[in-house]
Amino acid sequence: MNTAKIIILTAPSGGGKTTIAHRLLKEFPGIAFSVSATTRARREGETDGKDYYFLSDEEFNRRIEAGAFIEWEEFYGGSRYGTLKDHIDNHLKKGYFVLFDVEVNGAKNLKRYFGDSAVSIFISPPSREELRRRLQLRGTENEKTLKLRLERAEMELEQADFFDYTVVNEHLESAYAQVREIVAKSINNQE
Ligand code: 5GP
Repeated sequence: MNTAKIIILTAPSGGGKTTIAHRLLKEFPGIAFSVSATTRARREGETDGKDYYFLSDEEFNRRIEAGAFIEWEEFYGGSRYGTLKDHIDNHLKKGYFVLFDVEVNGAKNLKRYFGDSAVSIFISPPSREELRRRLQLRGTENEKTLKLRLERAEMELEQADFFDYTVVNEHLESAYAQVREIVAKSINNQE
């Protein structure tokens, strides 16, 4: 029996996937969000347990040693991000589809882990210039992390082919409509 009901959204940082993820969660009550653990500092407006589980380095290490993560990555000058196995199992046990909003390496690892029962969608910015503009506009980056994120984004853009679908996010409405259709189709196929 196919019990894994997994939707993976990925994009280079600043690609617009978080906005799309939030809209999917609003529209589809049967989808639960995979809340990742992270060691990065909480940003204004973020809630512990809703946006992320904010963990200390020590606590993150402890969870790695306990084998609590399906995958985890370290980037942007040392912050770590990871998917907690128990958290996902809980969602699946309750019958939810699970939506992931993760960077490209993590998305590849999740796709490998869940296999054909996961649908993976790569959200691509229309251009590198636009990606830079969006990251700058967001205003959460200093020059150093902006540069790191852009360098990483270059690498990530080359990975698009790995994923089941690519959606170009030039206009949010049309990108959302495309993602929505892919997700609706996956849900109908599984039920
Ligand atoms: P931010 O610091 O902007 O919230 O996130 C930075 C990047 O980490 C984003 O691309 C985000 O999607 C990604 N991310 C969030 N959670 C996870 C996770 O559990 N695993 C991995 N590999 N990446 C994650």
